[in-house]
Amino acid sequence: MSTEKKVIQEFVLEQDNELRFEVESKNEKVYLTLKSGTAEVFGTELVKAKTYEFTSGAKVAVFTWNGCVIEVKGKTDVIYTAKETPMVIYSNCHAALEFMRVEAEKDNKRGPIALLAGPCDVGKSTVSRILLNYAVRMNRRPIFVELDVGQGQISIPGTIGALMIERPASIDEGFSQEAPLVYNFGHKTISANPNLFTILTNHLANTVKERLEVNKKTRSSGAIINTCGWIKGAGYKQLLNSIKAFEVDIIMVLDQERLYNELVRDLPQFVKIIFLPKSGGVVERSKSNRSESRDQRIREYFYGTPRNSLYPHSFELKFTEVKIYKIGAPALPDSCLPLGMKADDHMTKLVLLTPNAGLLHHILGVSFSENEDDDILSSHVAGFVCVSMVDTERQTITLLSPQPKPLPSNILILSELQFMDTH
Ligand code: ADP
Repeated sequence: MSTEKKVIQEFVLEQDNELRFEVESKNEKVYLTLKSGTAEVFGTELVKAKTYEFTSGAKVAVFTWNGCVIEVKGKTDVIYTAKETPMVIYSNCHAALEFMRVEAEKDNKRGPIALLAGPCDVGKSTVSRILLNYAVRMNRRPIFVELDVGQGQISIPGTIGALMIERPASIDEGFSQEAPLVYNFGHKTISANPNLFTILTNHLANTVKERLEVNKKTRSSGAIINTCGWIKGAGYKQLLNSIKAFEVDIIMVLDQERLYNELVRDLPQFVKIIFLPKSGGVVERSKSNRSESRDQRIREYFYGTPRNSLYPHSFELKFTEVKIYKIGAPALPDSCLPLGMKADDHMTKLVLLTPNAGLLHHILGVSFSENEDDDILSSHVAGFVCVSMVDTERQTITLLSPQPKPLPSNILILSELQFMDTH
């Protein structure tokens, strides 16, 4: 009987303490309220007396610089107060970036381009979020670049993108996703198509550099780039390419000294490289955790969050009304390759597909290119649809889409990612 009641706990946090909790059970909701003092969640300030809601999968840290009292209502799976945190170090990084922004502003130059690197589950995304929140709280307008195709914070998994940050992330819903620039990579790991990843990263980097030039405030604010945890072998090469493409000035390596030393060895001296400890609060995610959080992001893309529901459209199109492409053709044996073609060039070939049952539940990126002559491969996308039915007899395909008919373009690019619509 008593287990059905919402448990209410009060925590008195001293200066520089952090309350950490996780919500794991399905359908469980946990409510957080700041009773007195000041506190922040990953750099976003809590509003006193306002209640924030967290659902299954949430892993949260409430940090206080000056002490506070927090009320937590509901069943958490883990909850404890930590006295040791790296927040002072992260805040010093912010101060260093801020110093560079002030200098950039004076000389009307580009502000710092900072990149977070490190293995999986060391808090790269969290530190990016903290640094962006601190920047925007200082009235800066940085660009956030997300290169983590598996667990990114922009759009849906399988993409890379950029977002201008104009206000702090919402405590429970992250950064507002207004007009992000998104490229459809179509896989949840870079290793699935490294050549395509290089092409898309280079395009994204050029666009971000252009955007930094047009707006004075953004130019001096610079950019924060988050990367994925694949840092060995070919993953390390991709990291070096991203650093070069974005002309990164400052790299923050979380938790791994080996990576730090490799970067010091391989990069020119003008690139500053800093080693940062990971927070003891960062939670390691299992394979199933990762897959669930990918599903949740796609679900939120179509249906929104409990607080901001969205109502997607479902409509039918004739096969003749769409052109669905897959990136990557089957490999040809070396002896059959045309002169001058490399063995892995096939991975960036566009293949026109005849709609078939194999497309069911797949995500498709709606390309911005209007005709086939445009560079479809490297064009960014207007958004995503999901295939909910393929009727080969009637030659129709049914799509779940955030927008009603017509689609902004009839050129659709297949993603490996799937979404089972259980609504
Ligand atoms: P990475 O980007 O390196 O894979 P994340 O920043 O996504 O790592 O962190 C992994 C998980 O740990 C996330 O769910 C995040 O919310 C959680 N987390 C990060 N820092 C803390 C902390 N100080 N206390 C509690 N949870 C945290």
